[in-house]
Amino acid sequence: MTIQHDILKARLLGLLIIITFVALAFQAYGPQKVLSLEPGTDYHVEVIDDRGNGGKSVATLTQDAEKFILNCDMIQSDYPWPYCEISFILIDDKGNGKDMSNYHQATLWAKYSTPQHFGIRFQLINFNPAYSTADDPNTLKYNAIELFDTHERFPQIIQMHHMQVPTWWLSQGKIAPDYWGPEFNNVRGVQISTGEGAKPGKYQMIIDRVEISGKYINDRTLYFGLLCIWTLLAAAFLIDTLLKTKKELNTNLQRQKQLEALNALLNKEHRQLEDRLTRDPLTGVLNRDGLAPIFKQNWSTDSTPLLSLIFIDIDHFKKINDTYGHNVGDQVLLAFAQTLSENTRSQDLLARWGGEEFVLACPDTTLEKASGLAEKLRRCIEENEWPKALQVTASFGVAQMLQQESPTDFIARADKALYVAKAQGRNCVRVSNQPPAVLTAVK
Ligand code: GH3
Ligand code: MG
Ligand code: MG
Repeated sequence: MTIQHDILKARLLGLLIIITFVALAFQAYGPQKVLSLEPGTDYHVEVIDDRGNGGKSVATLTQDAEKFILNCDMIQSDYPWPYCEISFILIDDKGNGKDMSNYHQATLWAKYSTPQHFGIRFQLINFNPAYSTADDPNTLKYNAIELFDTHERFPQIIQMHHMQVPTWWLSQGKIAPDYWGPEFNNVRGVQISTGEGAKPGKYQMIIDRVEISGKYINDRTLYFGLLCIWTLLAAAFLIDTLLKTKKELNTNLQRQKQLEALNALLNKEHRQLEDRLTRDPLTGVLNRDGLAPIFKQNWSTDSTPLLSLIFIDIDHFKKINDTYGHNVGDQVLLAFAQTLSENTRSQDLLARWGGEEFVLACPDTTLEKASGLAEKLRRCIEENEWPKALQVTASFGVAQMLQQESPTDFIARADKALYVAKAQGRNCVRVSNQPPAVLTAVK
């Protein structure tokens, strides 16, 4: 799923790279739209001279299949700026001009002969209701360029961004600064006229063709469009990555929780297993293995720790079994262990050593205190109420760990003290002072 998703993203990215490359290449080197003004095209052509402005110049236009010929007899008059002009009218059936915003270049195939070397003027006139009125052609904006005799080379290529709006037109129409720049969005005419400062005389302009070319899509529109698409794609990729990361994070968190739960379960099982291995199933107290650590712990230290041991054995337990059965025997064992547990301190460790024998390990306990505790326990057992109203007693052997004494010797000494207690009549506590055992009677 994720790999397919990534492949889809890569494909989308690849597609957009190709689209961008093709669009840029098309824009730079691709075909262009061309407006061609030449004999045979159905644009209306007019010839204009300064007689409309009070001048006396006479312009005549003839045309054949290949060219327009403007003959101009420029005559000095009271009108200070005599001129002759050929004008291509671009107004369509609805009265609108031509949108040339995307056009950028005009090419002029012409020949121009003048009495002296005077220039030629090329201009595109633009209609905008902000400053133009339909009934006055002088209100159309002149986007003009003057080609002087010093650089007249035909065909002449004119970059439209070199064209300017003459200041006389701006001041004459009192045009607001917002509209001072060239405008080509509603061009109503293409005009070629005699240039600035032309003197009286015969002029001839032979025009083969005027070609205005441009791009199908405006550069800014294309770059803006591509930028928008890339920005949207980048945003989509970013959101996708964020969502994916969030999802992965959630999955990881979930996995972590699952692992923690599993770990807790394993720990629990481990503890239960450890419990099973270290506890006596009948009485619930420790077994021999459960008690072992306390000896190991004390072995590892250099100085001998303060540790006492009480060995406990139920008196004539066999008789209980024989008289009341094994079940009652078990009940007595359980009650016996409970009685001992309830009457010992929290730091003391009680273990079933085997059969009806128990060991109580008492850390930080002197022999004296341990024998006191043993005596207390003996009485508890003696005074306890037992199943079947039995009279149960136990014998106790007490020892304190000696300097450098091994656990085996230590346990053996406590066991021996118990043996002595048994031998000396049972239901009593005997204490082992030191090896060889010197046993002291407590009761
Ligand atoms: P003494 O006073 O000398 O200790 O005599 P005793 O009868 O207590 O000792 P003995 O070693 O002769 O008998 C112990 C009996 O404990 C023998 C055995 O059947 C019984 N026993 C050992 N484990 C269990 C047990 O888990 N349940 C029951 N019911 N009896 C057990
Ligand atoms: Mg025994
Ligand atoms: Mg016994």
